Amino acid sequence: MKEFALIAELTRSLPKNDTVVVGSGDDCAVLDLGLPDQFVLFKTDAVVEGMHFLTECEPEKIGRKALARCLSDIAAMGGAASSALVTIALPKKFDVEFVKRIYTGLNEIAAAHGLAIVGGETTTNPERVLISISLLGLVDKKKCILRSGAKVNDAIFVSGELGGSLAGRHLEFEPRLAEARWLAQNFQIHSMIDLSDGLASDLRHILHASKVGADILASAIPISRAAKLQARAESSSKPPLLSALTDGEDFELLFTVNTKDAVPLLDGWKKEFPKTKLSCIGKIIAGHSLKLHDKGGVRELSAKGYEHFA
Ligand SMILES: [Mg+2]
Repeated sequence: MKEFALIAELTRSLPKNDTVVVGSGDDCAVLDLGLPDQFVLFKTDAVVEGMHFLTECEPEKIGRKALARCLSDIAAMGGAASSALVTIALPKKFDVEFVKRIYTGLNEIAAAHGLAIVGGETTTNPERVLISISLLGLVDKKKCILRSGAKVNDAIFVSGELGGSLAGRHLEFEPRLAEARWLAQNFQIHSMIDLSDGLASDLRHILHASKVGADILASAIPISRAAKLQARAESSSKPPLLSALTDGEDFELLFTVNTKDAVPLLDGWKKEFPKTKLSCIGKIIAGHSLKLHDKGGVRELSAKGYEHFA
């Protein structure tokens, strides 16, 4: 939580001008740069060796992940990606082939989403590889989805399956751009975020921004096979549900809609994206608590999960 406290402190008095529709505090900044029907989305993100990847990883996957994380944030706003700048910081002695392959991964996923890479910077960093991406996107003014729009009684949905991402998915996930665009075009999505830190933490961001609470049903949370395997392999016993709530780097979509849209949305999703799960996991309530309901009773959910597991 230290990171969030620091961000809150740093962002309290950032300079603004009249182009800023939404500044810091959502998945992307939203800017009105004078385009008639569209806002510009603006995002930056970095991956660091040892934190987000190991150098033993295939370099293509490292490059891919660096960009895919940013694309996932564009998706969370209901937008489309436009162009990116790439900064790579490398140790003094670096392997040229390694860097070329990072770019191969970057270029492939950029091309797949119609994104142009329009420049960047190469610099030195004594010990670790760092890749930083700055990304521009566009979103229809009327379809831009923020974290702050959740309303009491909204149904809460999550795409895909959660947990155990470290087993491999964190390098291979597909940013949900097509799904998010479809949602934005066909339904009035009240709020949305992409899952980077874990459901328990990221849902809090929506609740905080929207000044509401939520009731979540444990049995409705989609738990990935990787999270189940992880629980079986590590006798240390992190329950799969806890993995699904807190592992992070799932890069799935978490969003809320009016309850009356829930059934048509589920129905439409199944036809449009038959291979991707969509789960209704709970509802928005008044107040600011985040409660997990399961067989053992009701627990308050924190960013680390729940207090005791029955
Ligand atoms: Mg995000």
